[in-house]
Amino acid sequence: MALKRKVLLIILDGQPWRAARRLNGNLEGWAQSGHARVWKMRSVLPSTSASCYASIHTGVTPQLHGVYTNETLFRVQFPDVFSEVRAAGGKTGAVTHSFWSIFFNRAPWDFVRDIEYDDPEGPITHGRFHTMTGYGSNNQMTPSDADLFATLTMLTERFGIDYGILHTCTLDSMGHRYGHDCVQMDHAVAMIDGMLAHFLPLWLAAGYEVAVTADHGQSERGHHGGRSEDQQDVAFYWFGGGTGPAEHEVLDQLALAPTLLTRMGAPIPDTMKALPFLNGD
Ligand SMILES: [Zn+2]
Repeated sequence: MALKRKVLLIILDGQPWRAARRLNGNLEGWAQSGHARVWKMRSVLPSTSASCYASIHTGVTPQLHGVYTNETLFRVQFPDVFSEVRAAGGKTGAVTHSFWSIFFNRAPWDFVRDIEYDDPEGPITHGRFHTMTGYGSNNQMTPSDADLFATLTMLTERFGIDYGILHTCTLDSMGHRYGHDCVQMDHAVAMIDGMLAHFLPLWLAAGYEVAVTADHGQSERGHHGGRSEDQQDVAFYWFGGGTGPAEHEVLDQLALAPTLLTRMGAPIPDTMKALPFLNGD
């Protein structure tokens, strides 16, 4: 059984709406030239990374999936984008922090077994992970984003994945370290935006629809977890088809999972209650 379309989801961890719209020169250029559309998306609460990852992929709230903090790590017991793409006969790929493997593949994390795997049964059929072990404000422990983008590109070329997710913590770590009103953050955003710009056209040429977004925002001081527009609101850039909502509408993060499944033509499980925000061809 073939899926209708192939989709890649790129998550720039911790990039707030206001920083995205001001500093992503390439992404904004594509939006301005009509090659992409952009909406504001609001994260779930808590606007904590792990809670958001689980909600992005399951379409259910943290109050249901139970990932309340970055310390509550377990195999999430809800259908998610990986499991549903697999059930529909598709191949999935992940180039992400190890939390995604723990939540959606297996737990506990085993460094040697789980750092990289190719398992035709899935739910993640091709996983390439990093743990950021030792992370702190003086040592980010993030891989280079060029390496991550290249790895995802390799998965598309070598395995022809139908769905792939890339998640990078670079900007989240920089924001926690420096806050947002600083030259370090200006430079970090320009760097990742430029690296992404090199790879994104390759994915489009290979027939993928591509979403670029974030899990949550950050305050000017570099905090998130709570309720406020600066902590919750992120940009959602869409390089693909479908009829979307009006430009000023704020998208619900819980609608992302059913929207991705709709684009790929995979059935939406009953647990995903939010309506897809992209419809039609
Ligand atoms: Zn995060």
